[in-house]
Amino acid sequence: MTERHEILLIGAGLTGMCALYKLRSAGYDVRVYEAGGGVGGTWYWNRYPGARFDSESWTYIFSFDDEILREWNWSEQFSGQPENLRYCEFVADKLDLRRDITFRERAVSAHWDERAGEWEVVFASGRRARARFLVTALGPLSAPTMPRIEGIGDFRGECWHTGLWPHEPVRFENKRVAVIGTGASGVQAITEIAKTVGELTVFQRTPNWCAPLRNAPISSEEMARIRAGYTEIFARCRETYGCFIHAADPRNALDVTPPEREAFYEKLYQLPGFAFWQGNFRDILTDRAANDTVTEFVTRKIRARVRDPKLADLLIPEDHGFGTRRVPLESGYYEVYNQPNVALVDLRATPLVRVTATGLRTSAREYEFDMIVYATGFDAITGAFDRIDIQGRGGRRLKEKWADGARTYLGLQIEGFPNLLTLIGPHNAATFCNMPRCIEQNVDWVTDLLVHMRARGLTRVEASPGAEQSWTAHANEAASRLLASKVDSWMTRVNRNVAGHDKRTFVAYAGGAPRYRQKCDEVAARGYEGFVLD
Ligand SMILES: Cc1cc2nc3c(=O)[nH]c(=O)nc-3n(C[C@H](O)[C@H](O)[C@H](O)COP(=O)(O)OP(=O)(O)OC[C@H]3O[C@@H](n4cnc5c(N)ncnc54)[C@H](O)[C@@H]3O)c2cc1C
Repeated sequence: MTERHEILLIGAGLTGMCALYKLRSAGYDVRVYEAGGGVGGTWYWNRYPGARFDSESWTYIFSFDDEILREWNWSEQFSGQPENLRYCEFVADKLDLRRDITFRERAVSAHWDERAGEWEVVFASGRRARARFLVTALGPLSAPTMPRIEGIGDFRGECWHTGLWPHEPVRFENKRVAVIGTGASGVQAITEIAKTVGELTVFQRTPNWCAPLRNAPISSEEMARIRAGYTEIFARCRETYGCFIHAADPRNALDVTPPEREAFYEKLYQLPGFAFWQGNFRDILTDRAANDTVTEFVTRKIRARVRDPKLADLLIPEDHGFGTRRVPLESGYYEVYNQPNVALVDLRATPLVRVTATGLRTSAREYEFDMIVYATGFDAITGAFDRIDIQGRGGRRLKEKWADGARTYLGLQIEGFPNLLTLIGPHNAATFCNMPRCIEQNVDWVTDLLVHMRARGLTRVEASPGAEQSWTAHANEAASRLLASKVDSWMTRVNRNVAGHDKRTFVAYAGGAPRYRQKCDEVAARGYEGFVLD
């Protein structure tokens, strides 16, 4: 039997939750399908030790429901995964979302049926569902990847991926633990695991530039102040490049004297969250000479924190400047390498060769472990799309269309794929954003579009080829100004763990959230210019 609804929505992370609430409130019959066993997406799956926000907690909250704002209390400035998941569950309860969500259903294909003017989605269980509109909320970081090496299934000890962490507690005491990967998840997990582990060996291919998180508890008095200030907090986030609370300093790095610059960097380094990255001189992410100054500052910080200079050398990136990849925030990460029971293996010098029954083999030697933790990240932004066989008009495959790089209109729609709306899709400002802020914008915009269509008896929406082309050109042009576009990272879709992802193509949106929002608003004001509506 095929289920029928007006709108099928895939994913029950915060984006899917917000979209369900808003679309249902607009009177649509929406059904959500979610691969996981509960709501929360990122915060449902990423239960690894140390998982926490790098957004200030009080900026990572839905703004549209007064009761949520009144009743929810954050206990830390950057709260941890258990609390973040509790927040998602609290929202689901408050907005009574679960009644419209089917859990443990993974979409494997979605085909456009031109004759019926409908999408048909097939799930791994064999379930089928049809609707005129398909809205995806698949997550930018929801397709975990494993290293492409032999023997992955051979290891007989405990073995976990940070993005698929078990629900039961995992213990590290007296164990020999390997962590592969030193991206944002790896940095958080390594720091936490090191607190109780028997012996820890970190396998690093590419070091990242980290900055201090500087987390702190939130007292009830402070929570009351935050609550009273939500309106100003959201207004401030709206104005900043990535909707974080931090705005870039209007000066250029080289416009101030070296002592002033040093004092400014030192001040920022002592501040919490992304202050050091997003609140820095305006040109450190676009001008190489400016970037060199901040890179040199962080290099000194790392050297001061890591006792063994040779280890420090390995932890200092050489192939990219500070901030040109998403900056992991840390709480004592560098000091972990001063512990006698922690070792670092440089995979550039001695690559991993295979996983064995008892551990790992590099080109240099054999290692034995009780546990392997894969902190090897995600096939970002387009990965969750690629894992579904999405076929549009004439059986055209989305994966093939995006093989050499994403092409979208506003990161929300794709030519050749009518009535498919891709929340947080590639080239959408949300990819670079303090997410709830951009989720609300994406969802409101799509809801307004559907309401606009319903009011006019329109049943079909598709980006015109020209609109898609000019948005893609604009997204690429905006990216080209960022130093980040010349660096291998998930933003440029280079991922050695994914076949074919070895050429840089910028999949995030570098123009900033305010500019993106303005463009979306202009398109809507001009009767959804660039879309063919029938
Ligand atoms: C460890 C970690 C920390 C992060 N910290 C921050 C932070 O501090 N600030 C910030 O702004 N962002 C952060 N992010 C980004 C984070 O992903 C977003 O903040 C936000 O959670 C995204 O919500 P979403 O609903 O779009 O995606 P997700 O939360 O990823 O939800 C997508 C859902 O879709 C489901 N899904 C995917 N494919 C299918 C399918 N084929 N069939 C059925 N269901 C499917 C998934 O199971 C998942 O539940 C972090 C990400 C990670 C991984």
